[in-house]
Amino acid sequence: MSIHRKYLLAFTPESAKLPVIAVLVQKFGIIPNIMQAKVNEKGGRLVLDIEGDKESLEKAKAYIQEQGIDMRELDKHVSRDEWRCIHCGACVSICPAEAFHIEPATYEVVFTPEKCIACEACIIACSPKAMKLELW
Ligand code: SF4
Ligand code: SF4
Repeated sequence: MSIHRKYLLAFTPESAKLPVIAVLVQKFGIIPNIMQAKVNEKGGRLVLDIEGDKESLEKAKAYIQEQGIDMRELDKHVSRDEWRCIHCGACVSICPAEAFHIEPATYEVVFTPEKCIACEACIIACSPKAMKLELW
């Protein structure tokens, strides 16, 4: 049975040179979906949704960790209570995943949950308590 797991990967300058995605596909038969990538020769971060059977996912996870890549499962997510949001914009600049933007036409703050890496910064920054942490 095929299952999904979502991870945040942190690369060093050394591990950023590795063909990790290609190995996941070719060696472990994993289907990767890159949800967010900020990686260059200096390192960076990648949010990755991977799909495969349980055994393949475990092997893929072990391979990634063996390469010295820090790997954290995103087993939580945040949601927004639209009724509470006052579009103050406090969350826009503090979000490391750029999950918020201000719509130029309306000046409303738009939340894109697919970009979220569940760092929880907006939950602290949101005075009206519109942002909520939920476990999967
Ligand atoms: S900080 Fe909270 S109230 Fe302000 S725009 Fe963001 S979600 Fe809305
Ligand atoms: S928890 Fe909030 S601040 Fe952190 S990535 Fe998600 S939307 Fe952005």
